[in-house]
Amino acid sequence: MKKGKKLYEGKAKIIYATSSKGYAIQYFKDDATAFNNQKKSKIDGKGVLNNRISEHILSNLNQIGIKTHLVKRLNMREQVIKLVEIIPIEFIVRNIASGSITKRLGIEDGTHLKHPLIEYCYKNDKLGDPLIAEEHILNFEWATKKELEKIKKMILRINDFMVGMFRGVGIKLVDFKLEFGRTKSGERKDIILADEISPDTCRLWDAQTEKKLDKDRFRKNLGGLIAAYTEVAKRLGILHEQSNIKSANVTSLSSYKKKNKK
Ligand code: C5P
Repeated sequence: MKKGKKLYEGKAKIIYATSSKGYAIQYFKDDATAFNNQKKSKIDGKGVLNNRISEHILSNLNQIGIKTHLVKRLNMREQVIKLVEIIPIEFIVRNIASGSITKRLGIEDGTHLKHPLIEYCYKNDKLGDPLIAEEHILNFEWATKKELEKIKKMILRINDFMVGMFRGVGIKLVDFKLEFGRTKSGERKDIILADEISPDTCRLWDAQTEKKLDKDRFRKNLGGLIAAYTEVAKRLGILHEQSNIKSANVTSLSSYKKKNKK
């Protein structure tokens, strides 16, 4: 399989065409953005960690029967994926109130929700990904009723699985974002999970201390993002205890530059 031209560049990933019809390569960048692109930075090694963590979670979901776009990880930053027609909705799943819902509805941060709450945002950077109702999705035909019902079932199954997986390693799954896409094999259209699941797209709190192990470390200027993502990867059994992505292979250039500035 040969890597082809860039098809799409997002805030944290690039999608490349390939020589195999129906397949693409997803490249994980180190770029970090927040507040609809108003806060931007590059964090050495973030893409490498997200590639590994997302591969791990999507492979596990595949094993419990959730169809995903992941085919296989290629290298430190790339994975082969099935090309899909993305449904232009961000599906936000919340178990504990944090982030935008606390501001929007005045709910106290950390409030445990009675049931998992699914919210929908229209994927549109210019509009700031506005919150929408199910009625908008149906009215503007972004997805059919049948597709939406299927997606909701998949979301609840994914949430159940992920809550358990993270609980097993001492992490609370506060909330996360999912995206879905349509594939066409022969004449049969199907809905599969797309994009990524990583500490960039989830809120993850240490179960004991409630320390943030996710992108809120960047949003709230808490520092230690790579250490937190590495902690998540280690707890999930992806990285061995002694491995250190930061010093091993990704920050060598920037630390070299810093050292030589002194
Ligand atoms: O900002 P908000 O509280 O609505 O985010 C809810 C969850 O969805 C968080 O885990 C956040 O990281 C994720 N999210 C995302 N991409 C977006 C918006 C939210 O991954 N564009």
